[in-house]
Amino acid sequence: GSRVFDPLTSALTNFAEFRYFSIAGGRILNLMKEPEMKGDRPAPNGGDIEFHNVSFAYQDKKVLHHINLTLKQGSLTALVGPSGSGKSTLMKLCARFYDPGEGTVSMGGQDLSTLEPESLMKNISMVFQDVYLFQDTIRNNIRFGKNDATDEEIIEAAKKAQCHEFITKLSKGYDTMIGEGGCTLSGGEKQRLSIARAILKDAPIVLLDEVTASLDPENEVEVQRAINTLIAGRTVIVIAHRLKTIRNADTIVVLDEGRIVEKGRHEDLLNNHGLYAHLWDIQTQIAGWKL
Ligand code: ADP
Ligand code: MG
Repeated sequence: GSRVFDPLTSALTNFAEFRYFSIAGGRILNLMKEPEMKGDRPAPNGGDIEFHNVSFAYQDKKVLHHINLTLKQGSLTALVGPSGSGKSTLMKLCARFYDPGEGTVSMGGQDLSTLEPESLMKNISMVFQDVYLFQDTIRNNIRFGKNDATDEEIIEAAKKAQCHEFITKLSKGYDTMIGEGGCTLSGGEKQRLSIARAILKDAPIVLLDEVTASLDPENEVEVQRAINTLIAGRTVIVIAHRLKTIRNADTIVVLDEGRIVEKGRHEDLLNNHGLYAHLWDIQTQIAGWKL
């Protein structure tokens, strides 16, 4: 389901964007008071993302073990593995939702924990399954990607994200309120709004977690088209429920119980006859696809 929260003050929004996704709304403000997000250096403008011997635990539950991984600037990396294998956690470490318990995550050669959080956030757009919308106008919900955006920029992003058409059909267009007492949007429409927000933000790194998982086929096509516009030429990490959608990734990283068990391109991994090939077999058998 999607969430609608009260608007945050603009001074908080960039920082909030970076921690809110996995959290219930009421806890946002408390979490932002956590002392751990330190760092005062400006973030480099993208670059490779590197994991050096990263381990991570939620309290005492270890979920990632000794991850070594380089995500090349401008490449598309897919994270694959059973539910609970640590895909979302690995992705969240790239955006510094958390700092690793052991090892380092770096961007452009700089340890994320030394970077000023808001500066890092300017580098990263995130689109997750659970779309995060404010109780505000459609225009302001898209503007959240870039506080000083002009109306023209907002409309252009909406067009690229396949939103403009449904927005202009609403009685108040871009000034339509969403959320409590406002209009109701379908799951696919909310997804595309969050993609418009990300397109407007124009960050060099894009994180996509199960974006199309809950959509019907018709919406999935529209959302996929919007995603293709969003990711062109960027460093992308994608978690996709359906392996079919990531078979062209530059690198597929297969996680199992918090460890990288395989890595490579689709064809290589099929030839490995390992976990990826197994997951692929299950999905293609269930779906009855012809390869
Ligand atoms: P995936 O995305 O592959 O399904 P996750 O990274 O979401 O896996 O989760 C990895 C493990 O960490 C799971 O066992 C999950 O239950 C646990 N986990 C995820 N988020 C939290 C959290 N906020 N607090 C405690 N445990 C969590
Ligand atoms: Mg997940």
